[in-house]
Amino acid sequence: MNFRARRTDPAVETLRDGESIGIIGAGPAGSFFALHLCTLLRKAGRHARVTLIDRKVFSSSGPIGCNMCAGAIGPSIVGKIRELSVVFDKRVISRIADGYEIHGRDVSVTVRHPERGEIYTVFRGGGPVTQAGETKSFDQYLLDSAIATGAEFIHERVEGIEKTPDGYRLTFPGGTARDFDFLVGAFGVNSSISGKVGIGYVPPETWHSVQAEIPAGNDFIVERLRNRIHIIPAHGRNIRFLAITPKEDFLTLTGIGEHVKISDLENERSVNRALAGLLPKDAGILCHCHPQLPVGVAKNPYSDRMAIVGDAFISRYLKNGIESSHDTACILAEAIIGHGVSKAALNEHFYRPCLRKFRYDNLWGKALFGVYESVLRKGRLSDAYLRSVISDSAAGNMIQERILWSVFAGDAPYREIAREAFHPRAIWELARSLSRGS
Ligand SMILES: Cc1cc2nc3c(=O)[nH]c(=O)nc-3n(C[C@H](O)[C@H](O)[C@H](O)COP(=O)(O)OP(=O)(O)OC[C@H]3O[C@@H](n4cnc5c(N)ncnc54)[C@H](O)[C@@H]3O)c2cc1C
Repeated sequence: MNFRARRTDPAVETLRDGESIGIIGAGPAGSFFALHLCTLLRKAGRHARVTLIDRKVFSSSGPIGCNMCAGAIGPSIVGKIRELSVVFDKRVISRIADGYEIHGRDVSVTVRHPERGEIYTVFRGGGPVTQAGETKSFDQYLLDSAIATGAEFIHERVEGIEKTPDGYRLTFPGGTARDFDFLVGAFGVNSSISGKVGIGYVPPETWHSVQAEIPAGNDFIVERLRNRIHIIPAHGRNIRFLAITPKEDFLTLTGIGEHVKISDLENERSVNRALAGLLPKDAGILCHCHPQLPVGVAKNPYSDRMAIVGDAFISRYLKNGIESSHDTACILAEAIIGHGVSKAALNEHFYRPCLRKFRYDNLWGKALFGVYESVLRKGRLSDAYLRSVISDSAAGNMIQERILWSVFAGDAPYREIAREAFHPRAIWELARSLSRGS
């Protein structure tokens, strides 16, 4: 039964009991949105039909189950999941790292969360191609949680989006279709459906990264990598930096840059001493992918009865993508429950709050990455800097260790890190350690 009353003034349209909400994409943004919406509806004693649609099977190993990501999640997003009253399924945790190791040419420094929070590594799907499927996928866990909270799931690829007088119609292979009163685009930045949204939507600018899965034994991961995530400056110009993320008996090797190819990653393995020492000798690549990651903001990500969340809209610059997806999804769910589904309401209570949270902060992120990346890429200078971080930390001065943690790993807003990193004292310390190495 549909309780929808005749819609009058579109500027004050609200979500009515019994209406249907379709969500394209059941990655983190889609599932977090469904979780928040179903929770808010229940608390308000209201009802809507919430449908998640995804083309992937997250429980499968290999590309058909995988949403292509390094899979590191920090204490902040784990806390937000727990706040949703969802039991955090420990089976999704592949490994628990106590920190990151940041490398120069010959020196590395371990940086940890100030409160010693752990970092979990997770497989987004069922693991690399050779996995037997015992791994619990993080995306499947979020989707299962959304279903348990009241959402329904359709395993299908959305082929088309059409505007109807009352909402949107989605079309599927074979010509089937389904109508929704409100549509959420949570399709990320690796989907061609972004070109069919209409409403003037333009996806964010992206970089093309590369990821490779490499087998590694538990002994190697524990003894050589100390079970941590490693950040290594690249030698080649196409890669800005490299990361190694241990998961079960595998390493995810990530190359981040504007346009990175698998050959760039293979070349780094042969010329980058720091990297080569962190990978098992002669270990082959099991599978690799070229996911995009957003480095800008989408244009027109909302209209009457439609909004785009997650990577497809906006995300924190070069880190915490899963948490950013959570945050935009949460803001949207609160906006449509509290303020309505009109373009005007979404502008005020969804679009602007998301921009306030990320856009300005990302400018600081770009500046911070630029400074610290250029220091770490400069062989002798990077070693001098990292040595001074180690000796300062041993003497109880944690400023640079904290900054390194925050730039490459932490979940604090970039502007807070910048306040500390660009403080005259921190600049003086950075300059002093660089001059020692020059
Ligand atoms: C190399 C790399 C490493 C990363 N590492 C990390 C990390 O360590 N930690 C972290 O927090 N973030 C990381 N991220 C970012 C993170 O992956 C993203 O921010 C996050 O996945 C965005 O979630 P999303 O739901 O918006 O999009 P996605 O995860 O891309 O999900 C979109 C979903 O939509 C579905 N979909 C798309 N089109 C259709 C269609 N037509 N029909 C049906 N379904 C469709 C897809 O199948 C997919 O499941 C990394 C990103 C990259 C590129």
